[in-house]
Amino acid sequence: MIERVIPPTLKNAVEQISELPGYGEKSAQRLAVNLLNMPRGEAKQLIETLMEVLEKIHPCRECGIYTEEELCPVCADEERDRTTICVVEESFDAFAIERTGKYTGLYHVLGGRLSPLENITAEDLNIDSLIDRVNRENIKEVILATNPTVEGEATASYIYNLLKNKGITISRIAYGLPFGAVLENADDFTLAKALEHKTPI
Ligand code: ZN
Repeated sequence: MIERVIPPTLKNAVEQISELPGYGEKSAQRLAVNLLNMPRGEAKQLIETLMEVLEKIHPCRECGIYTEEELCPVCADEERDRTTICVVEESFDAFAIERTGKYTGLYHVLGGRLSPLENITAEDLNIDSLIDRVNRENIKEVILATNPTVEGEATASYIYNLLKNKGITISRIAYGLPFGAVLENADDFTLAKALEHKTPI
């Protein structure tokens, strides 16, 4: 019955949205309904904006931060401390750290975290390119700023093991961030404190 009532295009859209990480069928339905309930002009504008994001945004050649240029503004800035790399899960984590204005080094975006449940392994993350940067450049410190979650911790310790014999300082942010927190959602003060009180591993 339901199968015949739900319009095929809507069913198809909900199915595709629910394949996105973090979206179940209910949240996919909510997104589709919200879009349909919006004034048509606004909905079209939103979709155009998303199309523009797809066309213009790509990972920085060097660090993987999402950017419109070949090199992101951090990598292109000669004033940044080029001996320190802060490793984050996603670009928005780096944007959150940038908002604090307290960090002057470079970044490296992993593009996720190790997650056996989601079948995300080391090969799916930008780990090789991190090791490559450490080998190739004059890096003195790597700050592991993955989220303080079980998966973020596992990812940090995996990377720590790959870097521990390279003669560099490896630090982990922790102070002030409640376990299970997500970096992107931390307030600027907490995040600034977490960076300030990073500890060598
Ligand atoms: Zn970059």
